[in-house]
Amino acid sequence: MQRMVTHPEPIVPCSKGHAARHMHDLRRASAGGGHGIECACSHTARHEDFERALAEWEQMHRKPVAKRQRAAPRQVFPPMPQLQLSL
Ligand SMILES: [Zn+2]
Repeated sequence: MQRMVTHPEPIVPCSKGHAARHMHDLRRASAGGGHGIECACSHTARHEDFERALAEWEQMHRKPVAKRQRAAPRQVFPPMPQLQLSL
């Protein structure tokens, strides 16, 4: 039995631009269950947890630019207010 898991943050599309879906197979791992990510043209192996499936997916469809954009956003303002310096 499989169900589709929706995420607030969509999974990066595959290298051909297909939307990726997180599939959770509710069977035991020994019966082929687990978490996997698939699109119209490819799919990952089944993994015990979604994080590993996502890691495999991102390795299959590596997009260095998109990945860099997702990393910590640049902070526009300094964390400490500097007004005190002029007092
Ligand atoms: Zn695809």
